[in-house]
Amino acid sequence: MIQLQDIRKVFNAGKPNAFTAVSDIDQTIRPQKLTVFKGPSGSGKTTLLSIIGCMSRPTSGRIRLNNREITSLPERFTAEIRRRTFGFIFQNYNLIKGLSVLTNIMIPAFPDGRPYQKLQQQAMDLLQKLMITAKARQKVEHLSGGEQQRTAIARALINDPPFVIADEPTAHLDTELSRGFMDIIADLKAEGKTILIASHDPLVFESPVVDCVVTMRDGHIVQREEVS
Ligand code: ADP
Ligand code: MG
Repeated sequence: MIQLQDIRKVFNAGKPNAFTAVSDIDQTIRPQKLTVFKGPSGSGKTTLLSIIGCMSRPTSGRIRLNNREITSLPERFTAEIRRRTFGFIFQNYNLIKGLSVLTNIMIPAFPDGRPYQKLQQQAMDLLQKLMITAKARQKVEHLSGGEQQRTAIARALINDPPFVIADEPTAHLDTELSRGFMDIIADLKAEGKTILIASHDPLVFESPVVDCVVTMRDGHIVQREEVS
């Protein structure tokens, strides 16, 4: 479980161009549920997801992960927590060009020192689950948008994190691929993952698999609907 308490993020704090991207954020992320953050562009969704996922620090406020306060930990600890706890599916996927699908997927596991053969088998298992085994040796720049996303999903899962975070996952997908994405998400939830998605796509936030919809506007939470 994640508890956010009075989270605020100010970019360029103390400078003339200081900008408060999110503030007064109090939210509990329930385990093994799917929470969607919706709201117009610029409402603070990406900023909040990156704070939740320990990719950036809040300017003030507290984050508790499984009842442990992690906000004040030094970077070397938060980096380790991030790696073990969260799998990210970035809006533009952030795959590394020039490298194969397989290598891209394995990279987040390299610091573990897992035996290479075992790691490669785990990556292949994920590719099979996501039905892109045939693309394993392909360089990522030669993939379609949907295949790039599946590669990004596999990479997010390689360390078997309890949390999966996806930022605007259907922004570059047509309706059919978007439905396919939500099917994958439904499977991950059924496996017990806790899922957070930022999206203003009704196909995402109106999906029956969603448990909680948090609406953001101008950096604030303005509505919270617990669907289940
Ligand atoms: P959303 O994901 O909902 O579109 P963001 O979290 O990306 O919103 O951005 C919220 C606001 O914070 C926007 O006005 C954006 O311009 C601003 N912002 C985001 N990142 C930065 C940054 N690194 N420096 C300055 N302002 C930023
Ligand atoms: Mg965003």
